[in-house]
Amino acid sequence: MEKGRTRVDLFEYQARDLFAKHGVPVLAGEVIDTPDAARAATERLGGKSVVKAQVKVGGRGKAGGVKLAATPDEAVARATDILGMDIKGHTVHKVMIAETAPEIAEEYYVSYLLDRTNRTFLAMASVAGGMDIEQVAAETPEKLAKVPVDANEGVTIEKAREIVAQAKFPAEVAEQVAEVMVTLWKTFVAEDALLVEVNPLAKVADGRVIALDGKVSLDANAEFRQPEHEALEDKAAANPLEAAAKAKGLNYVKLDGQVGIIGNGAGLVMSTLDVVAYAGENHGGVKPANFLDIGGGASAEVMANGLEIILGDPDVKSVFVNVFGGITACDAVANGIVQALELLKSKGEEVTKPLVVRLDGNNAELGRKILNDADHPLVQQVDTMDGAAERAAELAAK
Ligand code: GDP
Ligand code: MN
Repeated sequence: MEKGRTRVDLFEYQARDLFAKHGVPVLAGEVIDTPDAARAATERLGGKSVVKAQVKVGGRGKAGGVKLAATPDEAVARATDILGMDIKGHTVHKVMIAETAPEIAEEYYVSYLLDRTNRTFLAMASVAGGMDIEQVAAETPEKLAKVPVDANEGVTIEKAREIVAQAKFPAEVAEQVAEVMVTLWKTFVAEDALLVEVNPLAKVADGRVIALDGKVSLDANAEFRQPEHEALEDKAAANPLEAAAKAKGLNYVKLDGQVGIIGNGAGLVMSTLDVVAYAGENHGGVKPANFLDIGGGASAEVMANGLEIILGDPDVKSVFVNVFGGITACDAVANGIVQALELLKSKGEEVTKPLVVRLDGNNAELGRKILNDADHPLVQQVDTMDGAAERAAELAAK
């Protein structure tokens, strides 16, 4: 988890998974990121589904981000509409294909949160769910029950019944809602959450009470005892460099070292990380700052994009460009590097960190000559991979 962040907000599908794990009634669902995948997912659910935008913002329904699909083909069409949609500034990259609820009779609201001002936990419940709860709190506060929960006592079934009574749930659902309050509290405690919220908690035609939408914020300070939580983090959103790289179509992963790495081909980049880490042991323990594979093509534009991302990383002290000329020969890559440096200069992002370039393979001689002739003050060439890694580590340690 990134330093300084205190809470980790989850997507609805992740909240749904945690609810299911602790016994809160939910409907089946799976998350997908391509329209075509909606077909098979909907078939698995028996031929119809609800297609739901996965963005960390409320009001998706009103914005057109929640649609029913009566057939697998319709699910593909709705997923096509919703993927890529902008909802309040959040681009939809994933949709959840969920089992359709039987007809909804009523929509309620329930949540637990850490009430910092009153130094306690708070249960909130309302029979006026479905809509924005802030609006309920502002316009009809009598419809929102707020019940403090003692951390030591927690929520037993008796306590849950008290919450349900205060919120005046109808008798026919009271016991079911109380059970949800117990399992939701289990989720809250077991997952070290700061907020768990269900809106709507729906009463459906067959009388069941089901959580149709969930919101969970986890306490990042509890990560030491929640090893499974790391996988729930939205790394792209958490790391602006990775998000920027993704936007440029680059295969980039941020690491925590000081030597920026660019290579062509995933295998070469992987071994570059190893040799840099090894070389770094002799230079104060410097390490690779990232994984970046610019692929076989390596045009000037791709090279410029890659350099831009890496030079934008404040942790980077030196850059190692490691290229093995194959289909794209080294002279083309060398020209790419020269043009990339000019491109960055013209954009006012001139290179200020030393670049160590190692060219090998097809047309290596010619490539080296091109870089020598360009004579960029911060670019130096080393012919071997180990030598170049050594040089880059040394420069990063300075
Ligand atoms: P939100 O608008 O971001 O809060 O998204 P929700 O998941 O709460 O969905 C908005 C509304 O869509 C809900 O209040 C429900 O009325 C409706 N909805 C959500 N899931 C289902 C479902 O499975 N079946 C039906 N019929 N409606 C649903
Ligand atoms: Mn909702």
